Amino acid sequence: MMDFNHIVQKSKLYNFHSHTQFCDGRAPMEDFVKAAIEAGFTDYGFSPHSPIPFASPCNISFDSVEEYVAEYRRLCDKYGDRINLYLSMEIDYIGEQWGATNKYFDSLPLDYRISSVHFIPAFTDNSLYIDIDGRYPAFKQRMELYFNNDIRAVVESFYAQSIEMVETGGFDIIGHFDKIGYNANQFQPGIEDEEWYERLFMRLFDAIMDNNLIIEVNTKAYVEHNRFFPDLRYFDMLKKSGATLLINSDAHYPHLINSGRMEAMRFLGL
Ligand SMILES: [Zn+2]
Ligand SMILES: [Zn+2]
Repeated sequence: MMDFNHIVQKSKLYNFHSHTQFCDGRAPMEDFVKAAIEAGFTDYGFSPHSPIPFASPCNISFDSVEEYVAEYRRLCDKYGDRINLYLSMEIDYIGEQWGATNKYFDSLPLDYRISSVHFIPAFTDNSLYIDIDGRYPAFKQRMELYFNNDIRAVVESFYAQSIEMVETGGFDIIGHFDKIGYNANQFQPGIEDEEWYERLFMRLFDAIMDNNLIIEVNTKAYVEHNRFFPDLRYFDMLKKSGATLLINSDAHYPHLINSGRMEAMRFLGL
């Protein structure tokens, strides 16, 4: 297991969560490496959305994984004297049938693993997995189409699946663990203040702590939507928790590799 504590103690310029041409990122891997070196980063990790057992335009295909690993190795040879590069994936936890404990991932030379929930089963047809992670207009449509506009049940499903993911294990870092909060709060403003929501959040947080996971503070949406994942309201609790915190930009564009990271660090007193 990588010593993330050691890395974050010596450097503020790192990012362990990023997407490139192999999934839904918007530039080749090499462009991210160049941007990271230019910005003085010491450590940079690639984490394409993992292959999943159904079609998704956002995830790397099984067929592309070999090329992804080969490109990573080429970049290490070319730039390895200037920056530490890491091979990872942001593995989707779908449920019992697919997640980080699937044997498939053991066949890959991953340096570390992130795990996240982006898809939950439709209420109208539970063999369909619906992306609840995208932008709000798409989310709103899906609420109507697949979830009978029942936001509380969607939030409960997201947290239940996240808790199951944490208890199943097989990964190092939990990605953006209250991500549903943003879309849910657009759908029903103030939902995160509700007692039942807080209880769900805390159940997941307790499971994360019990399982000694590394917690990501995801800064991807901060500049555009003024929102961190987990939300700023939880930062005091995160600080006091003693968990290892990684401040990741989840960049999909090279110019955004450091977006929101320094602000999050300031709020966290890092
Ligand atoms: Zn994600
Ligand atoms: Zn991501």
